[in-house]
Amino acid sequence: MENLIITVAPTGSVPTKKNNPNVPITPDEIIQTGILCEKAGASIIHIHARNPLDETPSTDFHIFKEIFQGLQQETNLIIQISTGGRAGMEYEKRSERLLLKPEMASLTTGSVNFSSSVYANSPDLICALAKDMKIQGIKPEIEIFDVSMIQNALDLVDQDLLDHQVHFDFVMGLKGAIPATIENLVHLRNCIPRGATWTVAGIGACQLNMCIHAIAMGGHTRVGLEDCIYFKRGELASNEQLVNRIVQISKIVGRKIATPDQARKILGLDKTTD
Ligand code: ZN
Repeated sequence: MENLIITVAPTGSVPTKKNNPNVPITPDEIIQTGILCEKAGASIIHIHARNPLDETPSTDFHIFKEIFQGLQQETNLIIQISTGGRAGMEYEKRSERLLLKPEMASLTTGSVNFSSSVYANSPDLICALAKDMKIQGIKPEIEIFDVSMIQNALDLVDQDLLDHQVHFDFVMGLKGAIPATIENLVHLRNCIPRGATWTVAGIGACQLNMCIHAIAMGGHTRVGLEDCIYFKRGELASNEQLVNRIVQISKIVGRKIATPDQARKILGLDKTTD
């Protein structure tokens, strides 16, 4: 089995320090978290920006730049910038941060109802973001909230807007999206092309369970306070603690952890160094 790629999603758009004081908010806090999570065994960091003053989601290019450059200097992590829309839905704002040319960026190939809002990704917007990533040489991580989004991504491959070696992230257990069950995870895995890579982001209490299944099935894992602020019931987590737990579990079952450079190989990001 391939070495396990662990993505950490340390911040997201929703949890605040009031929910969990370990959520990194400022660029410096996010960079320090990246350093600790790389040491713990993460190879990808998925980043969002926040307004340092009130912790609300931010689309500010300069905040993204500060986080990006700091992580680049201090770590060897693969930096994956979110193009998610909770901070602002306009294409221009969601696309602007791609000018930083991170190795990866997230791309959601459909719309979904969150508990009290619509996460809208129109066909035109998806194509425009995919095109931007292709032009800048950025590998998308395709965020899958429902089965139909897989087909939407494969249509992008047909249109030559997406490289054929697709990497998927199954976001499971979020209210409004696909429920986090083993049957659903197996179905999602069976719907993607052979040779595609995949990871799973279980939201809330299902995070650990989904990661354990992915480790056994040959997939990869995403953990972090963006998706779940608890280590276990009633106990708040830190990002590095969540990464470390996956490392321990994976070692117990005999699956090695990918270094950032090994993750680059698995994901086809190392083309220029071949
Ligand atoms: Zn995110």
